[in-house]
Amino acid sequence: MRSASDSDKGEHRSVAVVGAGITGLVVAFELRRVGIDVTLYEASPHAGGNIRTTKDDGFLAEHGPNSFVTSAPVEALLAKLDLLDEVVEANPSANKRYVVRNGRLVPFPLSPSTLLRTKLFSFRAKLRVLLEPLVSRGASADDESIASFVRRRLGREVLDFAVDPFISGIFAGDPETLSMAHAFPRVHNLERTYGSISRGLMVQRRDAKRARASVRTNGTVVGSATPTISARLISFVDGMQTLPDALEASLTDTLRLGCPARLLHRDNARWVLEAGSDLDTRKQTVDAVVLAAPAHALAAMELPAELRRLAGGVERVEYPPVSALTLGFRRRDVAHPLDGFGMLIPAVERRNILGVLFSSSLFPARAAEAHVTVTCFVGGARHPALAREHTAALVQRVLPDLQALIGVRGEPVYVKHVFWPKAIPQYTVGYGAVKAAADAMELENPGLYLAGNYRNGVSVGDCVASGQQIAARVAVYLARAE
Ligand SMILES: Cc1cc2nc3c(=O)[nH]c(=O)nc-3n(C[C@H](O)[C@H](O)[C@H](O)COP(=O)(O)OP(=O)(O)OC[C@H]3O[C@@H](n4cnc5c(N)ncnc54)[C@H](O)[C@@H]3O)c2cc1C
Repeated sequence: MRSASDSDKGEHRSVAVVGAGITGLVVAFELRRVGIDVTLYEASPHAGGNIRTTKDDGFLAEHGPNSFVTSAPVEALLAKLDLLDEVVEANPSANKRYVVRNGRLVPFPLSPSTLLRTKLFSFRAKLRVLLEPLVSRGASADDESIASFVRRRLGREVLDFAVDPFISGIFAGDPETLSMAHAFPRVHNLERTYGSISRGLMVQRRDAKRARASVRTNGTVVGSATPTISARLISFVDGMQTLPDALEASLTDTLRLGCPARLLHRDNARWVLEAGSDLDTRKQTVDAVVLAAPAHALAAMELPAELRRLAGGVERVEYPPVSALTLGFRRRDVAHPLDGFGMLIPAVERRNILGVLFSSSLFPARAAEAHVTVTCFVGGARHPALAREHTAALVQRVLPDLQALIGVRGEPVYVKHVFWPKAIPQYTVGYGAVKAAADAMELENPGLYLAGNYRNGVSVGDCVASGQQIAARVAVYLARAE
């Protein structure tokens, strides 16, 4: 066994970050920017985690996220990485999102006037939506499922044809098991604070408008209101991998690829981390450790007994499997104009596909000349077994759905299949216990931090923001410890 040993000899404060997905990359990038000595350990041979892009034969396929929504932290990161010129905003038609009802694609209503006209909901369902402000608040102590919350406030039809398909689109999850408070805390808080979702949204919109007007009039920000930047739905000219690639490029000499963290223990006020294979183990003593690997990765790590006990409460987070199948067709072989973001398919429609992105309509250069691409998501909590099928079987599973729903003819000319055995963490009812276990691991172990999409939201934007927050906390901890 070859064993390397690194220690920072006390000259610099040092940090080990475990997992080079977007969260770990952002943590390492932000720490390095403020002069902290960082080593980033990644189990796989490449950085980026769920974010990866393949380009071949004129087609571009995303393995994980195809796009993401920006926020102030994301825009700040893009500027620091000098990536703003690489950004592509989604085609404006992406505002159109189809939901399947009775085998037909119906645009999802995005305004009160389209809600009244839409064929997605019956008259009765529309009335339920309009009467939502009159529904009384749920019991505050309850950690309620999304399905129960929506049935109570908006009715069964809205659950089936609006919420269920969107839950599949975001979490590949089941609204009967996901927690409203943990998966959608903002919407949950609208009920808690204003007694109703629509009333809360109206008040928030009015306050934001007033704040903007006040900024225009005074040139300053008044009270607690801060100016908001408009969120953009973006990717990059060469696909999503541009983001982890840029972070990786700025982390030279920092990243250890193919080097899984295997063991962690305390050494007085410091941490000892062992990473690598049986034949090539690296041992490092550091002042702080950020675990930015998925929750289930903790199960494979050797930890001291008191940490192992708490880790048990974190590593039980469920991650259902998902297959992402990007298919290229000749344009003339697809009847539908593919004029939108994609289509979401409610469970009650009983199809094999959870949802389909119209990838080549969203961003330019995703398909060869005179071709289109669609990305189908299969599996999730709804059909876990389907996600595990091999490529040829999966293509034959999705083709009948594509034929029936968007008029696809013949076989695809391009296929890229990516299987995620553990895709997205499920913020299920009772998730408070997972968060409490993660909080306790940090509280009882100064210098240890847990980060990643199972803590503060699953979107790429959430991961960037949480990576920045963790980096700021680590920097404060190291400064105090000096
Ligand atoms: C199919 C799919 C589609 C998605 N679509 C979207 C979308 O359209 N928009 C959006 O905003 N979000 C989307 N998401 C969610 C988003 O991509 C993820 O939540 C986010 O990228 C997760 O980042 P992360 O860094 O927290 O975790 P990960 O990306 O999972 O990274 C964790 C890293 O830790 C490494 N690791 C594991 N164990 C160890 C160990 N012992 N030692 C060292 N390294 C280890 C792993 O190899 C991995 O690289 C999608 C996710 C999936 C799977």
